[in-house]
Amino acid sequence: MTWYYVLNGQQAGPVEDSELQGLAASGAIVGETLVWRAGMPNWAQFRTLFQMAPPPGAVRCMQCGNGFAEEQTIPLSYGRACATCKPIVLQRIREGDVSVRGNQRYAGFWIRVVARMIDGVITSMAGYIFQIPMLVVMTTMGNDPAKANFWLFGSTAAFAIIMSIVAAGYYEAWFLVKKGATPGKMILGLKVVRARGGEFRWGLAWGRYFAHMLSSLTMYVGFLMAAWDEEKRTLHDRICDTRVVFGS
Ligand SMILES: [Zn+2]
Repeated sequence: MTWYYVLNGQQAGPVEDSELQGLAASGAIVGETLVWRAGMPNWAQFRTLFQMAPPPGAVRCMQCGNGFAEEQTIPLSYGRACATCKPIVLQRIREGDVSVRGNQRYAGFWIRVVARMIDGVITSMAGYIFQIPMLVVMTTMGNDPAKANFWLFGSTAAFAIIMSIVAAGYYEAWFLVKKGATPGKMILGLKVVRARGGEFRWGLAWGRYFAHMLSSLTMYVGFLMAAWDEEKRTLHDRICDTRVVFGS
């Protein structure tokens, strides 16, 4: 199948399918580039016919669908847009276009509790490993008060607690940065997204973990906030401006 496309206002082509895809991958053809092949009634934008694969680490513009480096995009209420599309998106938001918001389905309180439980099982296994030095110390002390070494016991206990917190944080942060969701969330088809789009950076991922601890320290009120919020935001979602949604 051969294609024609418009480059700098001039018709170009014919090119084969593979050549057309190559031009898109190289950036010569972008989402709005008009393309046509025999049998089509009209020219159509490339993105309406083909999936645009953004370059690795790129952020997709919510309007044209093209991939850009994050710093080349502008954060808007419901995603990121390239400089060209920003006015169009702002116009759509002003006009109350609900499709700007996308059809995101927010994950509610209970499914997130289940996801946390799954993650809890995994991270507590790591926690047990860090308790080994403490258990060894306890075993050597036995029941003999003369052998009791409280400094040694205390330090191994502190090691177990600190390492459990660090390991759980690393688990959470690593999966957010690399996969966009912890295994518990992935199993249930959930992912964590930034309200203004873009990838998770390490700082934000760790920040969210500590903000999540704050949600626990508030007698879980921080988690319960999701139950009454339109966008199902927990306290840590509010602090980090994140949302938990269904879908990949
Ligand atoms: Zn754009």
